[in-house]
Formats: sequence, structure tokens, C-alpha cells
Amino acid sequence: MTLPYGRQSIDQSDVEAVAAALTSDWLTTGPRVADFEADIAAIAGAPAVTVTNGTTALHTAYAAAGVGPGDEVVTTPMTFVATASTAMLHGATILFADVEDDTANIDPASVETLVSEKTRAIGAVDYAGHPADYDALRKIAERVDAVVIGDAAHAIGSTFHGRPVGTLADLTTFSFFPTKNLTTAEGGAVASTRPDLLDRARTFRNIGMVRDRDQLRHPDEGGWYYEVQGFGLNYRLPDVLCALGSSQLRRLSAFKGRRQQLTARYDRLLADVPGLRLPVQRDGVDPMRHLYPVRVLDGRRREVYDRLRAEGILVQVNYIPVYWHPMFEDLGYRRGMCPVAEAFYAEELSLPLFYDLTDTDQDRVVEALRNILGG
Ligand SMILES: *Cc1c(COP(=O)(O)O)cnc(C)c1O
Repeated sequence: MTLPYGRQSIDQSDVEAVAAALTSDWLTTGPRVADFEADIAAIAGAPAVTVTNGTTALHTAYAAAGVGPGDEVVTTPMTFVATASTAMLHGATILFADVEDDTANIDPASVETLVSEKTRAIGAVDYAGHPADYDALRKIAERVDAVVIGDAAHAIGSTFHGRPVGTLADLTTFSFFPTKNLTTAEGGAVASTRPDLLDRARTFRNIGMVRDRDQLRHPDEGGWYYEVQGFGLNYRLPDVLCALGSSQLRRLSAFKGRRQQLTARYDRLLADVPGLRLPVQRDGVDPMRHLYPVRVLDGRRREVYDRLRAEGILVQVNYIPVYWHPMFEDLGYRRGMCPVAEAFYAEELSLPLFYDLTDTDQDRVVEALRNILGG
């Protein structure tokens, strides 16, 4: 039997929630959207709007931040390409800051050297579920009048000194892809403590349609009237999927507990395996552990990846440094730019970690690693 690095957990309560939505009057943009958004807000600590996935959440967040041609966005290369590409789709230029050696999160010291009056946004990622150093990032952002965007695709449910992810950045994005911490099949959300930013996010995900009377430029023509004052896209998440999302959120603390349990178990069982460096957790962080990213030392990552995969243990590598993609190369970005991120990439391996992973499954992963590395 194969063990993926991540997968969804769907139980009977999830099935029933979706079935109830399917047989209701609404398939999309009904009451379950607002309900799911309220449920996300309760976890994230800030009001939220749902969107179709984590990629469109980022596209929407950059739109809300007003990112456009001539602007610069400083972000991390240790992420999925969408963290950078969606800002570029708005016409922005990306500057890649290097990451911290311990967390693989964007390094504020590196950000410091890249910001200027052109910086419109600083984009952090809560790698593996461990919140980035937002207090330091916000200080830098305030100085140059930039917005901090947190890509929390890995981190819904995480807290930093008791403050939930959702309150740490100006705008926070989530993904509900099946391998993430909860799923709506495809789905995502943008949260913000700033009503102006959230309002812009809400308008962007609904084609740019403005109905609020206070915001109309011309007199209200009647009940049908709306205005488009800036273009947006249809990024609405359907009711049917929001029903699944609310049902999954009711299970979130169980998801978090099991992920933490499995993390502690990996920490213990792998402590004496040679040639491995285990992930760390900084003081004050209570993470929703999305990934368990080990570092395989001595140039053996490729070998360990191939041998585990051959045994049906479907480990993953997160991530290829974003600027290694040919799209960036064509724009003049060169390898070697962020050495800490590249060293991390060269050794990183994400071990299976998901809610339904059993202790026996996990023992199998540990045994397989021992067989390869010794100890
Ligand atoms: C998954 C992910 C995304 C994209 O989310 P999708 O829902 O797959 O579009 C963006 N950023 C990070 C860090 C992710 O892990």
C-alpha cells in the first residue's frame, strides 16, 4: 500500500454536509458561503472571504493590496510558484529574499536589504505551518508603507504567542486543496483585519461588481443596479464546497492534535537516525503542522527520495526555489541568488503527515529511513 505525503480525511459528517447542500435551493453563493466565511474568521481571528483556491486567494490578496505595474513585491523563493506568479500577473516585479536556516521562512534581515519606496507588498509563507516572523516584517513594511501578505496555505489553525494566523499579516491567504490541513476539494480564502482591504478582496473575487450604495459613483438606478469600477474575476467558492469546508473546520482541532502527535512521534523516533536534520519549532509557536520536512545530509536526498518512493512511501520535495523555473530564468533571475533557500532545497524531504496516518504507517516510514541511513 502506498503512503502519500499528505491526503484529505473525509468522514460521514462531511458527506452529509455536502449532500444537504446539494439538495438545498443553493448550489453557489447561498447561505453556506457566509457560514463558512464566519467559521474561517473564528479560526483565523479576522474576517474572511472565500475564493476558488489558494492560487486565486493570492491573486485576490495582491489585488486588494493594490499591487500593479511598477510595484515591487518582496517574497520568498521557498514556496509554491503561485506566491510570486500571482503578483506578477498584476504587473509587479518580484524580489526574492532569502530564508532563515531553521524555519525556511522569509528572513527579515534579507527583506531589509531589498525594500524601497517601490515596495508595495512583502509576501511571507508559513512554511510547513510554522508562522513567519511577522512582527519583524511588519516593522519593515510600515517604514516603506507596504502591505504584509501571509500565504498561510500551510498554516490555518497555527498561532504565534496566542495570536492566530489571520491576524499576523495585513492580508492572509489559505488553501483548501486536499493535501492541506483541511479541504473543500479546491478552495481558498483571504482574511484581513483591515475592512478596506477585505472589501477590495470581496469585490475582486466577484468580477469587480459594486452594489453598496455608499460606494456607487452614479445615482442608484434601482434594485438591479451595480457598477464595475475596476476589473475583477469570478473566484466565488460554491455553496456545496463551503458546506464541506464548514464540516471540515469542525474537525480542525482534531486534525491539529493528530498532526502535532505525529510530529512529536517523528521527532522522537528519528532523533538518533544519522544524516538527518529534523524540523524545529520556535518559542511561542503553536503550529498546525502541515509538513514534516527533514533535511537529508551528505548529498543523499535524491537516493533517499528514490528508495522511499520505490517502497511506496511517496515523500515529496517542498519546494524547488521559485526563481529556478524557466519563466523566471527568461526574465534574468539566476541560480545562486538565495543560497540559504537553495541549500534547504538540496536537502529537503517531506515525510508522510496527515490526519489518518496511523502509528503503524509512521513506523514503516521510520523503519525505511533507518534501513537506508542506519541508526
Ligand atoms: C498549495 C499552496 C498554494 C496554492 O494553493 P492551491 O489551492 O493549490 O491553488 C499556494 N501557496 C502555498 C505555500 C501552497 O502550499
